[in-house]
Amino acid sequence: MTRTVLLGTVGALALAALTAAPALAAKPATTAAANPFAAASTLPFEAPRFDIIKDADYLPAFKQGMKIQLAEVKKIAENPAAPTFDNTLVAMERSGRMLDRVNQVFFSVVSANTNDALDKVQTEVAPKLAQHQDAIFLNPKLFQRVKALYDKRDSLNLEPEQAQLLKVYYEQFIHAGAQLNDADKAKLRALNTKLSSLETAFQQKLVAAAKAGGLVVDDKAKLAGMGDNAIAAAAEAAKGRKLDGKYLIPLQNTTQQPALSSLDDRATRQALFERGWTRAEMGDANDTRATISELATLRAQKAKLLGFPNYAAYVLADQMAVTPEAAQGFMQRMVPALAAEQKREAAEIQEQIKKDGQDFTLKPWDWAKYAEQVRKAKYDLDEGALKPYFELHTVLEEGVFYAANQLYGLTFKRRTDIPVYQADVLVYEVTDKDGSPLGLMYFDYFKRDNKSGGAWMSNFVQQSKLLGTKPVVYNVCNFTKPAPGQPALISFSDVTTMFHEFGHALHGLFANQTYQTLSGTNVARDFVEFPSQFNEHWALDPKILAHYAKNYQTGQAMPAELVEKIKKAATFNQGYSLGEVVAAAMLDLQWHSLPADAPKQDVDAFEKEALAKTGLDVDDVPTRYRSSYFLHIWGNGYAAGYYAYLWTEMLDDDSYAWFKEHGGLTRENGDRFREMILSKGHTEDYGTMFRAFYGKDPDIGPMLENRGLAPEGK
Ligand SMILES: [Zn+2]
Repeated sequence: MTRTVLLGTVGALALAALTAAPALAAKPATTAAANPFAAASTLPFEAPRFDIIKDADYLPAFKQGMKIQLAEVKKIAENPAAPTFDNTLVAMERSGRMLDRVNQVFFSVVSANTNDALDKVQTEVAPKLAQHQDAIFLNPKLFQRVKALYDKRDSLNLEPEQAQLLKVYYEQFIHAGAQLNDADKAKLRALNTKLSSLETAFQQKLVAAAKAGGLVVDDKAKLAGMGDNAIAAAAEAAKGRKLDGKYLIPLQNTTQQPALSSLDDRATRQALFERGWTRAEMGDANDTRATISELATLRAQKAKLLGFPNYAAYVLADQMAVTPEAAQGFMQRMVPALAAEQKREAAEIQEQIKKDGQDFTLKPWDWAKYAEQVRKAKYDLDEGALKPYFELHTVLEEGVFYAANQLYGLTFKRRTDIPVYQADVLVYEVTDKDGSPLGLMYFDYFKRDNKSGGAWMSNFVQQSKLLGTKPVVYNVCNFTKPAPGQPALISFSDVTTMFHEFGHALHGLFANQTYQTLSGTNVARDFVEFPSQFNEHWALDPKILAHYAKNYQTGQAMPAELVEKIKKAATFNQGYSLGEVVAAAMLDLQWHSLPADAPKQDVDAFEKEALAKTGLDVDDVPTRYRSSYFLHIWGNGYAAGYYAYLWTEMLDDDSYAWFKEHGGLTRENGDRFREMILSKGHTEDYGTMFRAFYGKDPDIGPMLENRGLAPEGK
């Protein structure tokens, strides 16, 4: 199953601390009236006005939006009337509409379709957003009002969602440092500004490093094994960079690169792997190591200021796992079985290399290729033979949408009248089971040089009954764009990614909250990947698979024996695919367990030692992300949170086991899951929600079994 995924959400007040560097010269201000973010869009569902938004609109919209919200917040904080739920919390929820609009749209395009102008805006605006957030959460008068309400919460006769909103606000204030004295608040503000600048710098360096890191090949013969379509795509990619006649294999954001499973020429494999491994460690302007080492130090200092022993402890305090020890202990329970499986797989692959008539020692750039041979030999399954059955648009409409129809009664209609930010983006209107409009959904599937790596979901518009908004959601992926005239054939791993990101989308679309702060995917990191990973299970459901896996030329359904082979092969190579994720998650926790007084770290030395401590075979199975290109933790808000993908896998496998015990793919089961999990946002505690659905606490058993690692299993 794919784990290339991440998610970015930007809440009303939980402004993502994405971004930045030194401020640039101010641009001429646009009048508020002319700015497309000044008022709610008049398009259906308040869809963004990509038909009129210009790059030059963002910066003035941010400035104006922050100014308006600060005035609104000042009015709330200085209200002479005694604090009430309405004049404080509801007023906060209504504040910052313009800023929210520009925020949601800007961070989507700067991630998915950036350019120099947008990068400059991000660089300038990121530290300002961090300061803006501090101006709200470190405002003592505002905090006193929230605290006064919180202290007498039992006597306020609040509805459950209101009580939860009060609790969440109070905890956000504490988490943000509202209880610090003035001197410490000043220190915190300076740290937050610096951190947001470093995070932007990391993100921008990495995009440039990944672009520069692509492998250029002169001789077609060196690409033997890749297949005609992939070679045509490589020629097309080279053309896009004015390298006519050559071939370009662009880098994916992970350590392993897809082409490594097919390239016959070992030297080309090694070259491609090393381009990826060292992409952000070239000693040039795109080298991220100095940025990382400073980020780690400053985060540790921030945690200390807020009363925590390290940054991981600070981050996990409001997550489902609560402590780094719980997250680490959970992963530690997998290590013995996982390390043994890695040894077994490595030996099997070394054996395959020998059978192939070769005498070299297995290296990471050989793993995927020879694992593919083992897979063929063991399961007679050829990844290449699957692709004709996975045409992207068919998978989307007849698979992803069909599953949502069978489980939840949703229907989808293509809208070509809604403006998009890039010509490849598809838009659909989503209709609920009772025929009422549910929301709007955008899909941006193809890789571009100006897109961040990986796959993610977020909202252009978040759902709120108070604000009268319905969800406008998007999915972004990085699938290889076919050469002109060719069908978009994707791998089964890409299919899984589509189901995954759409699981996030369902969480966003089913949001049914009064308050945006609690709405949809505004939940903890180690809960938010639960709906997405749960949705991956339907990719292999017999009824769903039969509906979408059809040969793009003949329309024939995938033969039963091929389906059977995919299922049998599902637990293949888990020592690798689970191992690389566990290694990355443990590396993340170790970076963020540094105490504030630790010296500045040498990134490579720290990483080497941290990986050695995992107890896994990290030489054959390198970490999925090296520190220097670990975007999740240095640029995208998953710091000390990468373990969440594994934690939520425990939740989703348990839930899928529940479905299997109760009749599988039925509307009744779907409606129950929607009612108890997908529509709830953060209106309850995560453990409470999960126990209500599942009937008990989460259990690691089904996850290990699914991975073929059950202690009693094979
Ligand atoms: Zn995800």
